[in-house]
Amino acid sequence: MIKLHDLYFKPFISEQEILDVVTRMANDIANDLGDEIPVFIGILNGSFMFVSDFVKKFPKPCEVTFIKLASYEGLKSTDDIQRLIGLTQDLTGRTVIILEDIIDSGKTLAEVHRIFKNENVKELKIATLFYKPEAYKKDFKLHYVGIEIPTKFIVGYGLDFDGLGRDLPEVYQLKTTQHMTNIVLFGPPGAGKGTQANFLKEKYNLIHISTGDVFRFNIKNETALGMLAQSYMDKGELVPDKVTIDMLAAEVEKNADANGFIFDGFPRTDAQAKALDDLLDEKDSEINAMIALEVNDKILVERLLERGKTSGRPDDADENIIRNRVKEYYKKTAILKDYYKAQDKYYGVDGVGSIEEITQRLSKVIDQL
Ligand code: AMP
Repeated sequence: MIKLHDLYFKPFISEQEILDVVTRMANDIANDLGDEIPVFIGILNGSFMFVSDFVKKFPKPCEVTFIKLASYEGLKSTDDIQRLIGLTQDLTGRTVIILEDIIDSGKTLAEVHRIFKNENVKELKIATLFYKPEAYKKDFKLHYVGIEIPTKFIVGYGLDFDGLGRDLPEVYQLKTTQHMTNIVLFGPPGAGKGTQANFLKEKYNLIHISTGDVFRFNIKNETALGMLAQSYMDKGELVPDKVTIDMLAAEVEKNADANGFIFDGFPRTDAQAKALDDLLDEKDSEINAMIALEVNDKILVERLLERGKTSGRPDDADENIIRNRVKEYYKKTAILKDYYKAQDKYYGVDGVGSIEEITQRLSKVIDQL
């Protein structure tokens, strides 16, 4: 992922893929032209990289020149095409091939045709590396098209966003969801995830999703989901993955515009972690860090029994259920440490100390992300 000005872009078309297409276009055009020496005309600024690679791959003699037109402002194509540098040579009787980096609405192309109306060239052909068929509103024939792309804003390989990105050898696409900070707050039951999440969500303006809280809310309201979850929760067992994952996805969807999320109590299994990656990937986003609160088991059980005196949670009141929850954690959940470690996203934090001290330790990790 890259950032240009204040926007984020994700990789879209690789350098190799582009070069393969450019080579194919150069060969196709050379075959169609026979022995004639064509004049290739690049449309500046965007086409400079395409033209450079194209003529290197073109297997026969050719001439190259440029005209300079300007139509883009920021992310939007404007109606007003400016002719900044026009034709500087006589092209009477010549075969001219326009090399465009991208054709979307076709306004620049209309200007090109205006320029050539009175030039008496033998033939005018259009070759474009990228083409947005859904955006194209003109009837001019496109003789050679490299890659058809959806109507999304792209940068790189000559194309810019407000001046930046032209130098990139590959092409990037504007992310549909802008940058989110997504944190998995991890640790065994009683580690203090809920308490800390309440501070962190304020500090970093994130949405806190506690799957345990959502289940308890459903139990209180006697929903079908609540009834289903209760039988597992009462025993300190995990609710089945499918149920939990669907519920989590719905909670994320409810907050589609969020700055990011603190996931508390989720994921708890390998399948949940994978589902979370897929869910965020659909949003062009990802988990930035798993931050684990490390607390030993003896302290956990003490804390939970203490909490049980006031929390009203049946699963906090009984030492056997508490021990089962901790057991479930080590059996199914603790392995997720390796899952995030493998992605270089695991951060362990000492979870013993005052609430403020632990918030500070967590903030230090988040500030570095
Ligand atoms: P918690 O509030 O996170 O301690 O969760 C309380 C109970 O809710 C757990 O013991 C599970 O029965 C259930 N639960 C919460 N989150 C999940 C999850 N991600 N997967 C399965 N069960 C969960």
